[in-house]
Amino acid sequence: MEKRIAVLPGDGIGKEIIRGAVDVLQAIGERFGHKFHFSYGKIGGGAIDELGTPLPDETIDLCKESDAVLLGAVGGPKWDQQPAHMRPEKGLLKIRKELDLYANLRPTIYYSSLAESSPLKKEVIENVDLLMVRELTGGLYFGKPSERSVKDGKDVVVDTLFYQKEEMTRVIKLAFELAQNRKKKVTSVDKANVLESSRLWREVAEEVSKDFPDVQLEHMLVDNAAMQMIKNPTQFDVVVTENMFGDILSDEASVLTGSLGMLPSASLSEEGPYLFEPIHGSAPDIEGQNLANPLATILSAAMMLRLSFGLEDEASAIEKAVDEVLNAGYRTKDIESEGMKLVTTTEMTEQVKATILDNQTIKSIMECYS
Ligand code: NAD
Repeated sequence: MEKRIAVLPGDGIGKEIIRGAVDVLQAIGERFGHKFHFSYGKIGGGAIDELGTPLPDETIDLCKESDAVLLGAVGGPKWDQQPAHMRPEKGLLKIRKELDLYANLRPTIYYSSLAESSPLKKEVIENVDLLMVRELTGGLYFGKPSERSVKDGKDVVVDTLFYQKEEMTRVIKLAFELAQNRKKKVTSVDKANVLESSRLWREVAEEVSKDFPDVQLEHMLVDNAAMQMIKNPTQFDVVVTENMFGDILSDEASVLTGSLGMLPSASLSEEGPYLFEPIHGSAPDIEGQNLANPLATILSAAMMLRLSFGLEDEASAIEKAVDEVLNAGYRTKDIESEGMKLVTTTEMTEQVKATILDNQTIKSIMECYS
């Protein structure tokens, strides 16, 4: 198989973690006989510095011409004081709009080897396997007006929560479809006791559920969901929610597995290309120190192989390699625990790569003798 992948490293640790994912994809190409062509584009603070915009047109074109997009992270203190339209995060929001990426999928899986890295008790997180589906193109992050002004001599501010019913329907439908191949349960999270948008969200969830009689639907208020996620996370299968609630809840879910550095994500559109990125940010506090955990980005690459290219065996090979490396005791600083082998970003990547390629050596030997 031959595929074109747009690679947008972005800012901070973006370059370090992306290098890891690209290396691992190359190892997969080598092992399974695929050719991945990587083309690099600019986004975020670096793009502002060089080209005066957080998302240059060339990057948009590159993404649209590619089969999939792999993104690192954007942002950093250098650009924190910029006006809204010149902030790195605008690049992120704009690429989501340009590619019409309406659903962000964030799986949270329990790794028994990382139980010690989680602040929660092992009994609580054991066997967690939840998939957060977050609406990505509507809600508070995109509604207009979003501005400050002075009214009657007072500073006032407005953000707008705007949704079209169709935006809700397509993401909730996707959540049900995904649940059909899992434990067949959808938890729809809203704030229907307060917000009009949530009341419509709830109605839509009910409407969509009629087409999926095999999937159980439950509604949960977002404040309760935030508590349940910590108290009893194994009750969840697929969780679907609007943009801002999803942003917050998925970061909370990351605590279950111990580190933001472990959580991958996929953003889907109706037509493609899809975009894959770790859920964490640019981590400026550890930038350039070879300390970042590359696994969230490497696992995002696995999601790309599965969801964009239909390469299930290849995706599983990455996931198994990550599992094996963790079981062997290798840890970056964020998931460090007593008695484990502390490694750098590059060493962690090398371990995953070696495991993928070693498995092949073992496989060929076995094939020779079968
Ligand atoms: P962050 O996710 O960058 O970092 C939070 C904490 O987690 C930090 O202590 C960081 O060192 C650690 N961390 C994050 N990823 C890690 C990894 N792979 N390995 C090890 N440790 C890791 O969040 P923040 O500090 O709130 O934001 C920093 C910048 O990133 C801000 O400019 C923010 O706007 C931006 N941001 C970007 C994205 C994105 O690009 N998708 C997402 C969130 C935040």
